[in-house]
Amino acid sequence: MCANDMPTKKCSQRSDRELGMDRAIPRRDFLNGAAMTIGAAMLPGGRFGDDAKLGEAQNHPGYNPPVSTGLRGSHPGSFEIAHSLRDGTFWQNAATPESLPEKYDLVIVGGGISGLAAAYFYRERAGSEAKILILENHDDFGGHAKRNEFHLGGKLQLLNGGTMLIDSPTPYSAEAAGLLKKLGIDAAALDKKYTNHGFYKSLGLGSGVFFDRETFGDDRLVKSPQVGEEESSDAESSARWKQFLGKSPLSEIVRRDILRLETQKIDYLPGFTSTERKERHFLLQIAKVDPAVLPFYQSRTNFEWGVGIDAEPALDCWAHELPGFQGMKLEPGAAPHMSYSAAGYANGGSERFHFPDGNASIARLLVRNLIPAAIPGDSVEDIVTSSVNYALLDSAESPVRIRLNSTVVRARNVGDSGSAREVEITYATGKQVYSVHAGACVLACWNMTIPYLCPELPEKQKEGLHYLVKVPLVYTSVGLRNWTAFQKLGVSNTYAPGAYWNSISLNWAVNIGEYRSPRSPEEPILVHLSRAPCKPGLPAREQHKTGRRELLVTPFETFERKIRDQLARTLAAGGFDPARDIMAITVNRWPHGYSYEYNPLFDPEWPEGQAPHLIGRQRFGRIAIANSDSGATAYTDVAIDQAYRAVNELLAA
Ligand SMILES: Cc1cc2nc3c(=O)[nH]c(=O)nc-3n(C[C@H](O)[C@H](O)[C@H](O)COP(=O)(O)OP(=O)(O)OC[C@H]3O[C@@H](n4cnc5c(N)ncnc54)[C@H](O)[C@@H]3O)c2cc1C
Repeated sequence: MCANDMPTKKCSQRSDRELGMDRAIPRRDFLNGAAMTIGAAMLPGGRFGDDAKLGEAQNHPGYNPPVSTGLRGSHPGSFEIAHSLRDGTFWQNAATPESLPEKYDLVIVGGGISGLAAAYFYRERAGSEAKILILENHDDFGGHAKRNEFHLGGKLQLLNGGTMLIDSPTPYSAEAAGLLKKLGIDAAALDKKYTNHGFYKSLGLGSGVFFDRETFGDDRLVKSPQVGEEESSDAESSARWKQFLGKSPLSEIVRRDILRLETQKIDYLPGFTSTERKERHFLLQIAKVDPAVLPFYQSRTNFEWGVGIDAEPALDCWAHELPGFQGMKLEPGAAPHMSYSAAGYANGGSERFHFPDGNASIARLLVRNLIPAAIPGDSVEDIVTSSVNYALLDSAESPVRIRLNSTVVRARNVGDSGSAREVEITYATGKQVYSVHAGACVLACWNMTIPYLCPELPEKQKEGLHYLVKVPLVYTSVGLRNWTAFQKLGVSNTYAPGAYWNSISLNWAVNIGEYRSPRSPEEPILVHLSRAPCKPGLPAREQHKTGRRELLVTPFETFERKIRDQLARTLAAGGFDPARDIMAITVNRWPHGYSYEYNPLFDPEWPEGQAPHLIGRQRFGRIAIANSDSGATAYTDVAIDQAYRAVNELLAA
């Protein structure tokens, strides 16, 4: 087989055939990954071409974005207007806004969990008659909490396209926990009742490491020594590591150093100060490993922060249980100069629960609460399999309305911000531009877009908002005909330190309500692949910007080839055939993913109250700012907390 990036046309064609690039599967609806928005495609005139009707797409029969495949996440059609606003070209080409005769108490920009929670909190305080409009630029509500829905072999299978689970570095606040409780969510109880954590282990499957030939000289899948194993003595652990390393393509020197790091209890920092513990090159300069060890650990932190160990301080790595610290007698608990999430996890995190579609179930429960007619059912269990009637989301009959495919391009106080009693919100859908008026506005959208929506903001506030560079990520859901290759190889998930996809995992085993996870390896299943596009060596925020640019120019076809190639190379010895075994692909591309969390290696220690997100989220007249960005933390509880704060600010004003 040819290498990943195939040099010749002949090689590319042969390889593409072997990989199954020509197979007819649900994955892309237009050439080069211009994914279809289902409702829009059903309109006369086809996809986005009929701009006049784009805003009404959600009202058409059959509109059901979670079943769309191809490029999802920030799908084509969701971001172009915002980018033209950023580039200063939007108003040059835009139609004069048409003022709609609609009047609201509150307009919320952004239909993610923060926006939906803001609607909930506002209505709770202002009363059930409060008129609220939520404007969202994507074709679905939920924001990062996106549902991927498949029907493999006729059976419903779900995965999270973004926000994976209820899980936070710190326990949920009273407000966030209270909201979950009102929605019927008791994370600990649900986890106990519905998650089969031991399922794959009961079949003899554990974790594996895939060494790719471009990084390690050879393609090799080796079962991991530690994860999923029983508590063991030092000698047993050492023996397992030796066995693992012996099967790896790593050199003798690298094996020796990894064995030392993983199994020996050495205090590398006796008498070191806290500042010295921030030392960037813990592995090289303190643990003094051979530089060739680094690729083995490089992407272990990608999942948490979207950058590898080159851009993470040692203390954060310790909190996330990377090796080398076991002999250093570090007490559990946070220390100065840790990032928020690591500091939190070092103190113990929140309760955890994964709905089959991730936190999309929270978004759906919120929508059911706000617009009961749109989602039938009445329990936290039945939300998983309930269908959304999208045509009822933006109904004049309902006090709360959700308008999809609508990008807000301006939010302004009518009159002086100090005395305004009204806001005007302008949004674009296709080439149509509309304005609505409301008593107040919550911007629950990505905070770095706000300076473009509100150019009147004070310069210092705009600077603060611009500082927050969101973390790009890709979460991919792939439908497989069966998972016998995983079974034969004894793995349910793999970490791939050097490969394009950082990890591959079989779907969670969760049985809730009428939803049933696959049980037999002969059944179709979904696998989850994740990638954090980053550029090791650069400062963290530069890595995020580079990764974002990469994501925006990567066509679906490239993602697909990388998926097929890596699955084939990882699972080949188990009999996996990508051309035969892949049934469907959905790539959730998030150029603007996790909220930016300050990184002690690159960000200064701000004076009290001066951190950019605090300056950036100040209320501006009748406009308040929510979203997890304004908590500088990428978690659902923070998205809810920030909604609560923003609504309170408005009501207090
Ligand atoms: C891949 C991924 C995995 C994650 N996993 C977890 C997890 O397991 N657990 C966890 O707690 N958190 C996780 N997160 C963090 C997640 O961001 C938060 O938990 C939460 O979902 C954020 O909600 P939000 O409403 O603040 O932001 P978002 O979900 O981003 O919602 C904001 C919405 O505003 C919209 N918007 C932006 N600009 C405009 C505009 N001009 N007009 C109209 N709409 C606009 C955006 O498109 C978006 O839909 C994950 C994030 C990502 C990207």
